[in-house]
Amino acid sequence: MTTATATAKPVIVWFRRDLRLADNPALSHAAATGAPIVPLYVLDEGSRVRPMGAASLWWLDKSLRALDAALRERGSRLILRRGDAEAELRRLIEETGADRVHMNRLWEPDAAARDADLAHALQADGVEVKGWNGTYLATPGAVRSGAGGPYKVFTPFSKALLSQAAPPEHTLGPHRIDTPRATPSERLDDWRLHPTRPDWSTGFDWTPGEAGAVAALGRFVRHALADYADGRDRPGDALTSRLSPHLHFGEISPWRAVVAAEKAGPPGQAAKFVTELVWRDFSAHLLHAFPQITDHAFRPEYDRMPWRADATGLRAWKRGLTGYPLVDAGMRELWRTGYMHNRVRMIVASFLIKHLLIDWREGETWFWDCLVDADLASNVQNWQWVAGSGADASPYFRIFNPVAQGRKFDADGRYVRRWIPEIAGLPDRWLHAPWEAPAEVLREARVRLGSTYPRPIVEHEAARKRALDALKSVDRHRDERED
Ligand code: FAD
Repeated sequence: MTTATATAKPVIVWFRRDLRLADNPALSHAAATGAPIVPLYVLDEGSRVRPMGAASLWWLDKSLRALDAALRERGSRLILRRGDAEAELRRLIEETGADRVHMNRLWEPDAAARDADLAHALQADGVEVKGWNGTYLATPGAVRSGAGGPYKVFTPFSKALLSQAAPPEHTLGPHRIDTPRATPSERLDDWRLHPTRPDWSTGFDWTPGEAGAVAALGRFVRHALADYADGRDRPGDALTSRLSPHLHFGEISPWRAVVAAEKAGPPGQAAKFVTELVWRDFSAHLLHAFPQITDHAFRPEYDRMPWRADATGLRAWKRGLTGYPLVDAGMRELWRTGYMHNRVRMIVASFLIKHLLIDWREGETWFWDCLVDADLASNVQNWQWVAGSGADASPYFRIFNPVAQGRKFDADGRYVRRWIPEIAGLPDRWLHAPWEAPAEVLREARVRLGSTYPRPIVEHEAARKRALDALKSVDRHRDERED
């Protein structure tokens, strides 16, 4: 409970990717001071930090509305400002007389550097700036190998993290938050974060915000967790948590997800799910230790890949028109919903990098714009994992066969039929490789290849061989370097 004293100067709680009231260390420490609280969000688009993509802005819009509503229920409200973060903080400090800024830290290299500069400058002017980890299971950089360096392999990292880190006590956040009344705020509607003309978000079926996050976690542990380990690879089944955008925007703490999952069933049932949450931490840990990986291969020899410039192939991939049904279904799910199932993300990424030999950074950029869960650390880490160029990455010779993957993980075709209605009439046997279907089967299913649905833009075996040759040439460089 916060009891604001008349004399205390306010604390600014600068919300960024911690858009929640529960389990929020920056907010609870501010409440513990007993001073009035100024909850702030700054939309800073001109800084060195990579601007959010369009789908993320869609999410941000709704999540800020939810946060504002939750704050209002506690007697407060969210102050919105648009512009340079430091300038806006200074202006708000001037307006409110605040002498402290609390925030939950960001760990991406550019954001962390911006925050460090800003904290330094404000502290030089007598404003106290404090940061906490409200985002990851362990503070990035804190889990170190026996030799003291950063882990480069997932399994020992995961073991070390789970043996060292423990869940903080669950807190619901202050019941009442006193905020100075006169503080002006911009209007969220004026920011125009929701797309219009065209509104491409009509298929976005999400409930951004803390309540939506808690509900998603509850649904997952009640209805899906028991089958998660087996079912998480089948894109036609709704057996994953879909917590990724909620976690990215900090609408729920990852520890809350771990604790709820571990409590929900018999010992060990939650292990696979917890491992996936640790992959999230591992991604942040790698980006923190190796900041160059946003633009360069973790294994530098992979920066010599003989990438192809193929605008036509890239466009077909983005639009879900490659002629490979599972790839196309994934790309259309992404466009229509702002999300793609993890197994399919691996397959479409492998297709772009290996079948089309297009630079993984092209794919990373497209995902960045289209995903509601776009996250620099996870996106870069996973793209490099598929490319074979990352730490603890998939071996370069692992080239997913989209047809075999479809037959294995979407055997009943539910996923492909949902996203590619034009081939939905094909029997399961031909669904993942329509070009192999006899003419009468195609006719009956009303599929005209090259007209209603494309023929494959590359032939699998030829593309596979081309990729292996390219990858071998890179690996030779590595051998030379290591000699
Ligand atoms: P669940 O299976 O329920 O997993 C629970 C949580 O664990 C997820 O919400 C997520 O926070 C974390 N997680 C799961 N898998 C991974 C993983 N491989 N790496 C890191 N964290 C993981 N995830 C993002 O959050 N943002 C991205 O930008 C992103 N880009 C990706 C790009 C590619 C090429 C690939 C192959 C994967 C990417 N992922 C990304 C990881 C993963 O696909 C998503 O986190 C997952 O599909 C989200 O669905 P879910 O919440 O139902 O996951």
